[in-house]
Amino acid sequence: MQLRGKTAIVTGSNSGIGLGIVRELARAGADVVLNSFTDRAEDHALAREIADTHGVSARYIAADLSDGEAARGLIETAGRCDILINNAGIQHVAPIEAFPAAKWDAIIAINLTSAFHTTAAALPMMRANGWGRVINIASAHGLTASPYKGAYVAAKHGIVGFTKVTALETAREPITANAICPGYVLTPLVEAQIPDQMKTHGMDRETVIREVMLERQPSKEFATTEQLGGTCAFLCSDAAAQITGTTISVDGGWTAL
Ligand code: NAD
Repeated sequence: MQLRGKTAIVTGSNSGIGLGIVRELARAGADVVLNSFTDRAEDHALAREIADTHGVSARYIAADLSDGEAARGLIETAGRCDILINNAGIQHVAPIEAFPAAKWDAIIAINLTSAFHTTAAALPMMRANGWGRVINIASAHGLTASPYKGAYVAAKHGIVGFTKVTALETAREPITANAICPGYVLTPLVEAQIPDQMKTHGMDRETVIREVMLERQPSKEFATTEQLGGTCAFLCSDAAAQITGTTISVDGGWTAL
């Protein structure tokens, strides 16, 4: 129960990787705040299920992170933030000349700019409590590129840079900032890419998974949400107190190629 007494806010956590991280941090004893832009009964029920399973406090706070004020409002409404996981993200796949400008703006706002706003709101709380962890869920696409993912690759490279700045500005304090760079994890976000990829490459589903998605993942296995949650728990542990300003790849060897 290494995280008992800590409050973790995980953006974009009613599904996929964010939900896996919430479950792992709650298992380690942290109180958790879940978030997405929806405000449905099932979102709040999910928080109750996590509270009941792990004996922690769990709340769901709706906030649309494409809006900077709403992103800051999420942290203010939570009222306490020891661990901030910037995870919310969207994707769109298209060649540069056909990339809709509105999609570019939305991807930069949600995948990158929201982390600036939440971090700005959370750092004073971490300083007040004398401890903090900022973990940004970047991507292998924060370190490498693929065609047709211009906005996503730009946002993910951007968040890796912002992570380094956050680490330098907190380096003399008991606060760390790091980015996790997952390879492919089978979540709703990845599921949603499969039809686009099938169209772009003219392939069937299985071929896209094997030859496009896992083509660059030498392990030939998807990473799991549990593994990403475990990596976050490690970064919150005392063993990781001197790990700051860096990236941790969870990508089956993708970035070793
Ligand atoms: P997902 O679609 O399952 O989850 C994304 C989450 O973000 C959801 O909870 C969604 O509701 C939320 N979200 C979207 N728009 C939002 C908004 N405007 N305001 C608030 N919340 C919003 O996707 P995922 O695969 O779990 O992705 C999570 C993160 O991991 C993303 O940043 C993604 O880029 C990154 N990532 C995913 C993979 C992968 O293979 N799945 C690989 C590398 C990085």
